[in-house]
Amino acid sequence: MPAADTTSPYPPSEIKHILLVEDDPMIGQSLTRALTDAGMTMDWMRDGAEGERAISANKYSLILLDLGLPKKSGLELLQLMRERGDTTPLLIITARDEIDDRVAGLESGADDYLVKPFGFKELMARIRAILRRAGEQTPAMIGNGEICLMLATHEVSYRGKKLRLPAREFALLYALVDSPGIIFSRHQIETHLYEWSREVGNNAVDVLIHYLRKKFDNEIIRNVRGIGWMVVKHPTDAP
Ligand code: CA
Repeated sequence: MPAADTTSPYPPSEIKHILLVEDDPMIGQSLTRALTDAGMTMDWMRDGAEGERAISANKYSLILLDLGLPKKSGLELLQLMRERGDTTPLLIITARDEIDDRVAGLESGADDYLVKPFGFKELMARIRAILRRAGEQTPAMIGNGEICLMLATHEVSYRGKKLRLPAREFALLYALVDSPGIIFSRHQIETHLYEWSREVGNNAVDVLIHYLRKKFDNEIIRNVRGIGWMVVKHPTDAP
């Protein structure tokens, strides 16, 4: 691991939003303080259920995840995220005796782990390495010749117009545009993208689709009667 300095590694335009899921108040407080001082914005959740809600509702640059958590274990949370296709970079912070869980975590798609107690310099070095790798992999935007989605801002440009979408609308449109020609059923949208069908009414997906279709002149998202919805392949899409 290369040596790291302790000054903020990011210019103001690249402030990182970090989610910490950690039930130990001492560790939680000191990490929150240290990372805020390093110029990042922080959400700190104290158990697995809170963590899951935060992950569903927000977009984070990186997640710091404790494994031994009340209500839902860190490992469960991680597996849930990855099953849903959520590729947010994730660093496990774990106790020394949780070696089996650590291995399971890496196999479930964690990017790296740190064993407690760890120094702040090492944490920052790991965070930077993970963000650097993630930055190389994640495109800043997706789209075709007709529509373009900006991941960092949730902005969509369409026929010369620019609009910003609420998180759920953006996530749904992103999934559709990212897989042109693939039909998504209501069930797929509910289970893979949201898992919120219990808290909202049965027609939530239909309502969301209705809003989205309207915003884009009923043209981008096609209704495939009785099956689901899709974005039609555009000539500029990869075959
Ligand atoms: Ca713990």
